[in-house]
Amino acid sequence: MPLTTEILPLRCGTIRAPANALEVDAPGEVVLPVYAFLITHPSRRSVVFDAGLARTDHGRIVGKTFHNDLPQGHDVAARLTAAGVDPAQVEGIVLSHSHYDHMGGAALIPNARIFIHRQEELRTLDAGHDLIRTEDSHDLFGDRSVEVFATPGHTCGHQSLRVRREGGADVLAGDACYYCHSLDRDDADQPYAFDKDQYLATKRRLVAMRAAGDFIIPGHDESFLDRIPKGSAVRASGLSRL
Ligand SMILES: [Zn+2]
Repeated sequence: MPLTTEILPLRCGTIRAPANALEVDAPGEVVLPVYAFLITHPSRRSVVFDAGLARTDHGRIVGKTFHNDLPQGHDVAARLTAAGVDPAQVEGIVLSHSHYDHMGGAALIPNARIFIHRQEELRTLDAGHDLIRTEDSHDLFGDRSVEVFATPGHTCGHQSLRVRREGGADVLAGDACYYCHSLDRDDADQPYAFDKDQYLATKRRLVAMRAAGDFIIPGHDESFLDRIPKGSAVRASGLSRL
């Protein structure tokens, strides 16, 4: 049983896409990791942040945009089981937003309540979960250790999650920040943000959080695994990689 909240990144598939779909004018193709993150509170309660790619009952990967790959045993339920966690015991799914690569696996976590921002468009979410529509800040465990907070721009109701720890926090940014370098460059912004001004305001906020000591974990860049700072709540394992 952990003494502090822990974050286990779970690699749940891969997307191959034109690079300029994610970054203005970027050449060629990119291969993007897709993640769910298991958050385990010291009380043993657990939630996931995003749910990764998944297959339908007919074996097709959910989502038709781009080329998606989900190896056998890599969906969120299989990854949780491999981590020693029964998917049926996970009590919550915090969705950064309602794109298929973030909510696909939600149906595989049957007893969880879904936390989605009140302004986020509701796409197909028909697996019978209870929905909690979050405000701009939501205290997930009631002890201020884990905050879900609004990071609009990529979509109108995009949200991120902040796990407090000594010396700062770990921030699961979702698609408010695609890559590790996204906060450093002005020429690497998203071409298709729902609201460009909000996207840039959110980016400035994440830059300020990083300057204050937070570790910002991007939505689609595995190189964060090589940059985990001392004291971080992130516990990477073989399940964090392909
Ligand atoms: Zn995404």
